[in-house]
Amino acid sequence: MFPSDYSERLDKVAAYIGLGANLGDPIEAIKSARLAINNVAGIRELAFSSLYRSTPLGPADQPDYVNAVMSVETTLRPLELLRELQAIETAHGRVRKGERWGARTLDLDLLLYGRERIVSEVLTVPHPGIADREFVLYPLGEIAPDLDIPGKGLLADLVRKCPQRGLEVIEHA
Ligand code: ATP
Ligand code: CA
Ligand code: CA
Ligand code: CA
Repeated sequence: MFPSDYSERLDKVAAYIGLGANLGDPIEAIKSARLAINNVAGIRELAFSSLYRSTPLGPADQPDYVNAVMSVETTLRPLELLRELQAIETAHGRVRKGERWGARTLDLDLLLYGRERIVSEVLTVPHPGIADREFVLYPLGEIAPDLDIPGKGLLADLVRKCPQRGLEVIEHA
C-alpha cells in the first residue's frame, strides 16, 4: 500500500504553513503556492492571512520579503506534508544553496502540526523561529488569535513582545 493511501485514513489535523519569497515576482509566487498547496490531495485550506512585506533575516544584501501564513486541514503525516511543501518550492524555481536565510523564490515552512512537538534531523515542529519572527507571529495572529503554541505559550503574548521591524500589510486578506 502507498503512503498516500494510508494517510487517507488518518484523522484530520490542523497545520500552519509560513510562506515567504523575495526573488522574481514574490507576490505571484505566494499566490501560486497557495493554489499548489490546495491542489495537494489530503490538504485543504482553512484560512489565509494578508500579504506582508518584511525585512530580511540574516544577509542584508537581499530584497525585502513577501510573507503570509495559512492554516490547513490535512490527513498527511508531518513528513509527508514537509515533502509536499518542498516539492512545491522546487516547482517554483527554488534552488537549494548552502547559505541559510539567503534570497529565494519561495520558502514554505511547516510552523505547526496540531499540538505535536517533533524534533528530528529533517523536521522540527513547532518551527524553531516561530516565537520571535514578526513576519510569522503577526499574520498568525490574524488567522488564529487564540493559538497556544506548544512549548512557547500564547500567541497573543508572543506578538506583544515582538517588535514589528518595519513589517507592513501590502494586500489585505
Ligand atoms: P529557517 O528554517 O530558519 O526559516 P530556511 O527556511 O532558510 O531557515 P531552509 O533552507 O528552507 O531553511 O530549510 C533547511 C532545512 O530545514 C530543510 O531541508 C528541512 O529539512 C529543515 N526543517 C526543519 N524543520 C522544518 C520545518 N518545520 N519546516 C520546514 N523545514 C524544516
Ligand atoms: Ca486539496
Ligand atoms: Ca524559513
Ligand atoms: Ca524553509
